Amino acid sequence: MATIFSKIAAGEIPSWKVAEDENYYAFLDINPLAEGHTLVIPKKEVDYIFDLDDDTYLGLTAFAKKVAVALKKAIPCKRIGVAVLGMEVPHTHIHLVPLQSERDLDFTKEKKQLSPERFKEIAEAIAANIE
Ligand code: 5GP
Repeated sequence: MATIFSKIAAGEIPSWKVAEDENYYAFLDINPLAEGHTLVIPKKEVDYIFDLDDDTYLGLTAFAKKVAVALKKAIPCKRIGVAVLGMEVPHTHIHLVPLQSERDLDFTKEKKQLSPERFKEIAEAIAANIE
């Protein structure tokens, strides 16, 4: 059965898309730690990032870098934090989180509540900076 993230990449479940190419897809996390919190996935369904074949792994990190550069331009922050957890969704994903301090990468803290309009604005602002 397709994972929820495969359904998102296929457009069967809506998402606030940030970037896409033939092999990778980036979209806003629905429960963000910070405004701009983005997930980057390979379209290939592999649960654990270190089970990816080398080409897909390297392509994913290069794609995540491109998204992170755009994210930093769109959302004022000191750094873009990078995390891989995979405790919830069994489809490889890299979290990109705009950071003001190291506390912003604490996944146990309360998530931000954003309106659909704000999600849309943020996704469009990041997408506009993708090169
Ligand atoms: P993890 O698997 O890395 O522990 O957590 C999964 C992440 O995916 C969480 O941050 C969660 O908010 C996000 N997430 C789970 N389901 C959806 C969804 O349907 N849409 C979006 N945009 N994000 C999701």
